[in-house]
Amino acid sequence: MRKTVLLLAMALCSLALCACGKNPDDDDLGYYTKVGSYDEDGNGTYKAGEKDIVSGGKFSDDGTIPPTDTPTPTPLPTFVVVLDPGHGAKFGGAVYGRFVEKTLNLTHAKLLKEYLETHYDNVTVYLTRSDDTIFFEDNSKDLRARVEFAKEKNADIMISMHLNSSEYHNAFGSMVCISKQPNITGNSEALAKCLLAKLEGMGLKNRGPYKKDSLDTKDSNGVPVDYYAINRHGADLGVVAVILESCYLDNDADVQYIETDEAIARMAAQEAEGIMEFLMTQYRK
Ligand SMILES: [Zn+2]
Repeated sequence: MRKTVLLLAMALCSLALCACGKNPDDDDLGYYTKVGSYDEDGNGTYKAGEKDIVSGGKFSDDGTIPPTDTPTPTPLPTFVVVLDPGHGAKFGGAVYGRFVEKTLNLTHAKLLKEYLETHYDNVTVYLTRSDDTIFFEDNSKDLRARVEFAKEKNADIMISMHLNSSEYHNAFGSMVCISKQPNITGNSEALAKCLLAKLEGMGLKNRGPYKKDSLDTKDSNGVPVDYYAINRHGADLGVVAVILESCYLDNDADVQYIETDEAIARMAAQEAEGIMEFLMTQYRK
């Protein structure tokens, strides 16, 4: 059903573009130019229907080619998503009771990847780590390497996946840390809002997109760079890199979202829908 809806949406989009004199293959639609075959039945090919055969040359009894009401499908744009399960190895992240952030982040990222790849044909997902490892022992080098990995994969977006905690265990809800640098802040904020809306729909408090300046580092124009390394390196490398803090692992209001793999999977599914909504309707290269 989803694929059918997407097909119709893309077909309508294509018609709208034709109406204003543009061809969907024009280069000005940069995000349409990636190759991607579309299938209605999930087997990797587009199958022509009866109407396609008619419009391909069969004539009706009166010798005319009957009009077809089946629009030609436009290939779906394809996307690369890099998921970065935060921390790993000696970097445990937040720990509270039985909850260890680095472990939950890995489970969460794997479930999100699985959901995306199961439900969408037009997205490729990479993980920066698929076990309890890191790129470098040095934290700064490690964070840089994660964003460089996303750059190498030509990622449309990178989501560094985390769970939050607070000093007095009294904070709860979802937030997304984004860059304020002009080259990626627009896409970052739109992605953040899509993610947060889905999480809010599950009952999580929406703490909003969050930008924070470095306390001690400025760029060549004297403007503070982003405080968070993933955002800062994302802006530097031109990767739309956000930090998703899905919920707090140390608050009673939020633990329901992480206490079992099934609960994490439900959260991941909503986040996946938010990602695809952003990519399909708002993302601009
Ligand atoms: Zn973290």
